[in-house]
Amino acid sequence: MSRKRDFRRVFRGLRFRLAISYALLFTILLTGVALAFRARLAAKLDDQLQEELNTSWGAMKGYMRIEAVPDFGNKICSAWYYDENDPDETTIVLDTRKIYMVADQFGNPIPDSVTHEPAVSTTYDDIGIDKPADIRRKVLEAVASPKPKIFWEDRKTSNGEPVRIRAGIVYSEKHGAPYYVAIGASYSDNVKTLRSYTWVFAAVIPGALLLGSLLGYYMAGRALTPVLAVAQAAQRISGSNLSLRIPTRNAGDELDYLILTFNRMIERLEASFQQMRQFSADVSHELRTPITAIRGQLEVALFTAKTTDQYREAMFNALTDIDRLSQIVRALLLLSQAESGQIVLQKSRLNLCEIVDDLVEQFQIPAEAAGVHLTAELPPECSADVDRVQIERLITNLLSNALKFTPEGGVVKMSLHVQPQFVEMVVEDNGSGIPTEHLPHIFDRFYRVPGQGTAPTPEQGLGLGLSFVAWIVKAHNGKIEVESTPGKGTRFIIRLPNEGVGSDTLELASGVA
Ligand code: ADP
Repeated sequence: MSRKRDFRRVFRGLRFRLAISYALLFTILLTGVALAFRARLAAKLDDQLQEELNTSWGAMKGYMRIEAVPDFGNKICSAWYYDENDPDETTIVLDTRKIYMVADQFGNPIPDSVTHEPAVSTTYDDIGIDKPADIRRKVLEAVASPKPKIFWEDRKTSNGEPVRIRAGIVYSEKHGAPYYVAIGASYSDNVKTLRSYTWVFAAVIPGALLLGSLLGYYMAGRALTPVLAVAQAAQRISGSNLSLRIPTRNAGDELDYLILTFNRMIERLEASFQQMRQFSADVSHELRTPITAIRGQLEVALFTAKTTDQYREAMFNALTDIDRLSQIVRALLLLSQAESGQIVLQKSRLNLCEIVDDLVEQFQIPAEAAGVHLTAELPPECSADVDRVQIERLITNLLSNALKFTPEGGVVKMSLHVQPQFVEMVVEDNGSGIPTEHLPHIFDRFYRVPGQGTAPTPEQGLGLGLSFVAWIVKAHNGKIEVESTPGKGTRFIIRLPNEGVGSDTLELASGVA
C-alpha cells in the first residue's frame, strides 16, 4: 500500500514530470531534425540520379544514330558508333545501353543495326516496354512542345529493383523523323542509403529518449534537491522554534530569493508570536492585579471587619476593582474587534471644528479641576470624511492623556489645520513628556511609561487608549506622529486624508504607530 503510494508520489513529483518533459522535448527535437535531414538527403540523391541520367542521355546522343542500314534492307535501325578499343567509351556506351529502348513514332521498337533484334535492352524488357499508344502520345506531345520535352517515370524490375526512366525524342539525322528513346538507371543504392539512414535513426531515437529521460531525471533531481532541503528545513520550524532559519546557499538564484522570502515570513511570524505571548502575559498580569485586590478586600471583610462601616468599605473597594476589571475586559474586547475588522467605520462628511469645539468644552471641567489651561485653536471651516464615534474616541483619549500628564498650571492646546491634501489635528501639552526610549512603545497595548505612577489606580489608564488611537488613525488611512521632550511636553500630530486623497498618500509612519 505504502509502496504504491510511494510510486504515485514519484510519478506526480516535479522531478518525474520535468524529466518526462525534457525527454519529450529531446525526442521531438531529434525526430524533427532527423526527418528534415532525411528529406534533404532524399532530394539530394534524387538530384544526383537525374543528373546521372542527363549525362547518360548526352552520351547516348553522342554515340547513337538512327539511320537506314544498307546491310539490313535499308531498314531504319539504331546504330552505335564508338571506339571499342577505348575502355572509357566502351564503359559509357555499355552503361547507357543497360536500360534502353528505341521506338519509332508509332510506338514500335526499331531494330539494332548489329543484332537486327529490337533495340530494347533485357532490363528494359523486364520493366515492361511502353505501350505503342503511350509512345505515340508522348511523341506527339514532345513534337508539339517548343522546348525539348523530357518524360520521367519510376518503374520496378521483376526483382523489385527500382528504376528511373528518362525518355524523350531523338530525330533521325537523314530524314528528320522523330524517334522515341528511353534510357534508365537503377536507384536501388539510393533506396538502400535512405533505408539504412532511417534504421539508424529508428534505433537511435529510443536510445536518445532513454538517455534524455535519465539525464532529465538526474538534472531535475539536482535542480530540485535544494528545494527539498528547503521544505525539510521548513518542516522543522514550528511554533516553539521559530528562531530557526533556513540557511541560504549564497548562489544568488531564485531559490535563494525563495529562502530569503521564507525567512522573512518566519521573522514576521516570530514577531507576531512574540507579540501574542507578550499580550497574553500582559492581559493575565492586568487581570490578576484587580483580582488579587478583590480577593484581599473580601478576605478583610470576612476575617477582620467587625462594624458595618468596615464591611461597607471593603465592599466598596472590591466593587471599584470589579469596575476596573470589567473596564479592561470591555476595552480589550472592543480593541480585538477593531483590529480584526469587525468594527466597520460609518464615515460621513463632518465638521471637525464643531466636534473638537464640543469635546474641548466638555474637558473644561476636569481641566479646571486639575488647574490646567485647556484651549482650542480652530480654523473657520474644517470638514473631513470620518466616523463620528471613533474620531470622538480618538480626541477624548488624546485630551484625557494630555490632562493626565500635565501638572497644575500647565497648558493643553488642541488645534486643527487644513492642508490641501490632509487635515491635521494637533494635541500638545507642556506636561511630563515621554522619554525617547519609550516613544516606540506607547501605542502597544497595556504599555505605560514607567515612573509616571506606581500601582494601577482608578485614575490611571489601562494603557489601551493609544492602541485605540493608532487603530482609529489607521482605519481612516491616516498617519500619526508623536514628538515629546521629557519635562517639557508632548505633541501628537494626526493627519487624516482630505476628500479625494487616496489612502496610499498617507501611510502610518512605521515605527510610530
Ligand atoms: P493610558 O490609558 O495609560 O493613558 P495610553 O495608551 O493612552 O494609556 O498611553 C500609554 C502611555 O503613554 C501612558 O501610560 C503614558 O505613560 C504615555 N502618555 C500618553 N500620552 C501622554 C502625554 N500626553 N504626556 C505624557 N505621557 C503620555
